Amino acid sequence: SKQAGRNTYSRFSAEWNESNEHSLNVVNGLRHALERGEFLLYYQPQVNMSTGVIVGAEALIRWMHPVRGMVAPGEFIPLSEETGLIVPMGDWVLRTALSHWQRWRSLGMQDLVLSVNLSPKQVLAGGFVEKLAEVLAETGFPPDKLCLEVTEGIAIHDNGLALEVCRGVRELGVHLAIDDFGTGYSSLSALHRFPFTTMKLDRSFISSIGQQDQSETVLKAMLGLARGLHMDVVCEGVESREQWNRLQALGCGVVQGYLVSRPLPVAEFERFVLGSGT
Ligand code: C2E
Ligand code: CA
Ligand code: CA
Ligand code: CA
Repeated sequence: SKQAGRNTYSRFSAEWNESNEHSLNVVNGLRHALERGEFLLYYQPQVNMSTGVIVGAEALIRWMHPVRGMVAPGEFIPLSEETGLIVPMGDWVLRTALSHWQRWRSLGMQDLVLSVNLSPKQVLAGGFVEKLAEVLAETGFPPDKLCLEVTEGIAIHDNGLALEVCRGVRELGVHLAIDDFGTGYSSLSALHRFPFTTMKLDRSFISSIGQQDQSETVLKAMLGLARGLHMDVVCEGVESREQWNRLQALGCGVVQGYLVSRPLPVAEFERFVLGSGT
């Protein structure tokens, strides 16, 4: 959030000052990054637990900085949000991800559900649904193969616009996921008020499997909640066999995590999926 964003920024600035002799500031670096094509998308597969089949992928942005090398989103997304750069960056992410997906289809891959992260700024910038409708129409992309991920944060300062946008997204037939579910202060209220189709259970609940006595009770309750609301569930951050087995026993639908694969550059992702026999 805001606090984390500031911390990230100052850490980034310190590193930047140490490592960059050109003394470009981060904001300019980020602006130029878009123009110069320094952003790229990685993809992390999502697997159906009962069939073992790859059914989806989440697009995750990376910045290939000419001096610093690969920069993780945690280091530039907060600043991009503060400066508003997240809006053109988010447009780029959406268009690029959709065109990658079209290529996957031409390579003979089964249609995956493509998940794309949205920042609150993008949702609230105005005209988002119109833009989305336009991109879908232009590309002929099947809306039910797209899932947009937002956190409960969009609901916090909401004057009705976030809800309107989310309803608009659903009216287009696009899935809507609540990301990092269970970590915020108002996840339940957001779930109740917004038309989410998918619950992404935060990694913190998965990593506590086998560590904390109460963790399975909480997981079970959240999975039951999703089932009761007829929502799809994706469990994030599955790293071990033990976690996989417990989640399978609890009836989790889809998992995403290092156990299956880390996020991969698009060409590697394609090889991974084609090699998996899916
Ligand atoms: P997120 O949406 O919750 O994405 C999942 C993060 O968990 C990714 O980090 C992923 O690499 C990491 N992860 C996946 N499986 C595991 C696991 O088994 N163990 C561990 N320890 N981590 C795992 P990443 O790629 O660094 O992204 C961090 C955050 O940056 C994302 O969290 C998302 O909030 C944001 N982000 C990434 N790409 C975009 C984007 O295109 N737009 C926006 N607005 N935000 C983005
Ligand atoms: Ca996400
Ligand atoms: Ca998440
Ligand atoms: Ca997150």
